Amino acid sequence: MARKKIVAGNWKMNKTSIEAKQLVSELIPLVEGADVDVVVCTPFTALCTAAEALAGTPIAVGAQNLHFEEKGAFTGEISADMLLALGVKYVIIGHSERRQYFAETDETVNKKIKTALAKGLVPIVCCGESLEQRELGVTSELVRSQIKIAFSGVTAEQMRGIVIAYEPIWAIGTGKTATAEQANEVCAVIRSVIGELYGAAVADVIRIQYGGSMNAANAAELMAQPDIDGGLIGGASLKAEDFSKIVRYKG
Ligand code: PEP
Repeated sequence: MARKKIVAGNWKMNKTSIEAKQLVSELIPLVEGADVDVVVCTPFTALCTAAEALAGTPIAVGAQNLHFEEKGAFTGEISADMLLALGVKYVIIGHSERRQYFAETDETVNKKIKTALAKGLVPIVCCGESLEQRELGVTSELVRSQIKIAFSGVTAEQMRGIVIAYEPIWAIGTGKTATAEQANEVCAVIRSVIGELYGAAVADVIRIQYGGSMNAANAAELMAQPDIDGGLIGGASLKAEDFSKIVRYKG
């Protein structure tokens, strides 16, 4: 089955709301007519402006995190309902920077996924190994375990709409991209775990992105791999032209 590719920009802690408006305005004409799903995941403070500027366009807006509780005394946190009220459709969950700097674990990732799904947000769930783990030869084991814990309690029906991003930590923001074969190998492992847990039909429709220094020069080769269904793009999503070249990776 042909899966529609999905390219999402993770802006991280970059761009004020004014800068976000400028960036998405530049992006709209550059990606017009593209045959992939396009998402921009802006900081919380730019979601409103970005959603307003992108209303009526095919570009969707995503957040970079959410809290798993519905509401209450969680100072500094943002709920699913708050995101939905702004027109947000996607939410990145479990990015390695959140695991590394903000104590996110597979268990909190699981809670966040369940909340996002219950509320109707589409999770982009990140997983991936460190350089040390790769060198120890435990990449497949680690990713399998991340996936199993992350999706514990998620139904097969819910799984169909989820996006998974395989992001080797050693390739994020480093300029070191996994080779297309390395990236595809782990994406295939992820698809096979999903198959074991949910059956072949779900494994066949779920979209798995690669993320880690993807750019205009390497996008086509990565996207041509059979188990890679798009990209989660950090640095190269901060310039409309660079990002649009990845969206238009076919040239
Ligand atoms: C990311 O942060 O998800 C990412 C892939 O970053 P970069 O493209 O800059 O490596």
